[in-house]
Amino acid sequence: MSVELAIGVDIGGTKIHFALADDQGKLYHQEIVRTEAREGAVVVLNQVLEGIGRMYEAASAYTDREKLRGIGIGSAGQIDFATGRVAFAVDTLPGWTGTRIKEDVAGRFPGLPVIVDNDVNVQAIAERRYGAARGLNSFVCLALGTGIGGAVVENGQLIRGTFGGAAELGHVSVNFNGPRCSCGNRGCIELYASGTGIVRLADEHAAAGLYEGQTDSRSVIKGWLDGEPQASAIMDVVITALSTGISGLIHTFNPQAVIIGGGVSEAGEPLLSALRREAALRTAPAMWEAVKIVPAAVGIQAGVIGAAAQLWHYS
Ligand SMILES: [Zn+2]
Repeated sequence: MSVELAIGVDIGGTKIHFALADDQGKLYHQEIVRTEAREGAVVVLNQVLEGIGRMYEAASAYTDREKLRGIGIGSAGQIDFATGRVAFAVDTLPGWTGTRIKEDVAGRFPGLPVIVDNDVNVQAIAERRYGAARGLNSFVCLALGTGIGGAVVENGQLIRGTFGGAAELGHVSVNFNGPRCSCGNRGCIELYASGTGIVRLADEHAAAGLYEGQTDSRSVIKGWLDGEPQASAIMDVVITALSTGISGLIHTFNPQAVIIGGGVSEAGEPLLSALRREAALRTAPAMWEAVKIVPAAVGIQAGVIGAAAQLWHYS
């Protein structure tokens, strides 16, 4: 019994997911801890180091030491891929900006390769190896969570830009007169189609007397799926904004697929059909014929699976 394994780590603002994975994306051992985000970056980095240490110990039950391929990490924020340093992270991880993840992890576990990337970039690797992007060389991923993360794969490789900040697709604007975003721009997709964006719209509608339901995103989505008119009016805005953004991405990248994941995408096929219907009206025909809009397929463990998969993706 000595399968080749990698340690995967998915670092988010609320939880850190650790796992041992093989090159088929199968998980052998895993652990989820609550991110002590409010305690600051040093504490969070220690949580990461300790969790990797536990995976390192656990690995001996499944494989020989020399079959441990390395440590793959996906983190929230913009990651400088070459140095494995956090170039910028938002308030969900206070002080995380500037953290030298790769250097510190490699220092603690000498001899093991360490690869660090943005959390949605590693999810794109997971989708390409094991999920909705199998066999595709050109695709876009949108992760509709608390915020919106993105990844773009072209010719089988992630597009990184100058330092690794490329594909911040949540901050593509769909309304130049829209509300101000934390990034500085106005009307970013994230303000409409993320979990917090839906809450923002619901609060706005409620304040105007146009919505009487619960203003959390799950309730709004459920109301829409049930055909409730007030919730549907909110989701019309969400769908129009998101499909406008998707159309822009299709015109920019001419991809084979746009892959939709994240908590909001749990709305499922009704959301996907609505996006297809609306995006089709906004996209040049040849581009539209070449692309499919599909759900992410790897599931909620895509972050940790993709993090580990980096050890095979780059070899
Ligand atoms: Zn923005």
